[in-house]
Amino acid sequence: MEHLNIPAEFKFMGRTWQVKPGTVQELGTDLGQCRQDEYTIYLSPAYPDQRVIATLFHELVHVWETELNLHLTEDQVDNISVAMTHWFKENPEFIPLLVDDLEFEQE
Ligand SMILES: [Zn+2]
Repeated sequence: MEHLNIPAEFKFMGRTWQVKPGTVQELGTDLGQCRQDEYTIYLSPAYPDQRVIATLFHELVHVWETELNLHLTEDQVDNISVAMTHWFKENPEFIPLLVDDLEFEQE
C-alpha cells in the first residue's frame, strides 16, 4: 500500500485523522473501516490498488457523514464516493480551484 502514497493523516472539522493499513484480524473481509472512536481509517492492503483507492474515498465519505451526523445509508455513502471520484477524475481542472481557495483563505 505504501506505493500508493496515501497521506497518513488528514484534517476534518478541526480533528486529525489517521489512515493506516488494517490487518485481517482487524478488518475481517472488510475492504476498509472508518473508526470515529479512534479517528482512524483502516484500509485492507490485500486488494488491488484501484479497490484500495475507491475504499479510501468511501471511508472518507463515512468520516464526513459521521462527523456531521448525517446518518447516511451504506448505499448513499457508496454513491457519493463513486460520484465524487468519477467527477474529479473527469474534471481535474476543478481541483486547483479548491487548493487555491484554501491558500487564499490562509493568507
Ligand atoms: Zn461503508
